[in-house]
Amino acid sequence: MLISLKGQVALVTGASSGLGAGAARGLAASGAAVVVNYHSQPEPAEKLVDEIRAAGGQAIAVGADVSKENEVERLFAATLDAFGRLDILVANSGLQKDAAIAELTLEDWNTVINVNLTGQFLCARAALRQFAKQTIRSDISRALGKIIHMSSVHQVIPWAGHVNYAASKGGVDLLMRSIAQEVGEQRIRVNSIAPGAIRTAINTEATTGDAEKKLLKLIPYGRVGEAEDVANAVVWLASDASDYVHGATLFIDGGMSLYPEFRNNG
Ligand code: NAD
Repeated sequence: MLISLKGQVALVTGASSGLGAGAARGLAASGAAVVVNYHSQPEPAEKLVDEIRAAGGQAIAVGADVSKENEVERLFAATLDAFGRLDILVANSGLQKDAAIAELTLEDWNTVINVNLTGQFLCARAALRQFAKQTIRSDISRALGKIIHMSSVHQVIPWAGHVNYAASKGGVDLLMRSIAQEVGEQRIRVNSIAPGAIRTAINTEATTGDAEKKLLKLIPYGRVGEAEDVANAVVWLASDASDYVHGATLFIDGGMSLYPEFRNNG
């Protein structure tokens, strides 16, 4: 099936780098108009917008902190101002503040939960409110709207030294599935992507040199992922090619969640 998102409008949070930038590129290449959200640095977001426009696509950059209700409202208002509708939300923004549990500060716990979980709630809620104002346009999609949550393999794999991150992603799983259960009847599709180790700024240390060799032991498929691996899944989940996929988590992890330590008889 040839995927076309022509006529659709996509908002990607945290799209000035890594997986968000990859998703924005992929969605734009498939024909969607894209809102490139960034947190604090406009330059990379503006550069991506220029790149998309130069390739014949439509895009704008909008700054907003997804953990702040008023900024999320402003982000969605800017989307509507620019493109008049919303069809696809990729709730991608996320961060890590790592520490052993006994050393983890309340501030770092709150920051991670606020961005990774509350941010996804605020963006999903704003998208659902917008979808409710629209009607299905069967010429562009069979669904009224699509939400894709960026989770992690750590929604199922416990992660010592990263309990705030793992808790936030475990939360994203039940957030996604509960929303999916609630809004499916409205023909709104809600799904998650759970990446494994993908080469981006969030894990530069773990994906280079000796650390990469150690990491590869955890990846049965034998390579670290690239942003494009995840972008391909985003485009598929946003399109009618996945129209019967709802409430699902797609693990894009080269098999990291397969308990690779048990490969040689445990
Ligand atoms: P990244 O650091 O390149 O991207 C994270 C993005 O989130 C950045 O653009 C950052 O500006 C943005 N962000 C941070 N705080 C924000 C805020 N308050 N408001 C708006 N945006 C904010 O790393 P990435 O790997 O591209 O991460 C993207 C998502 O993928 C995250 O949710 C991360 O947890 C998830 N993920 C990544 C991997 C991986 O291996 N790279 C694996 C599993 C899950």
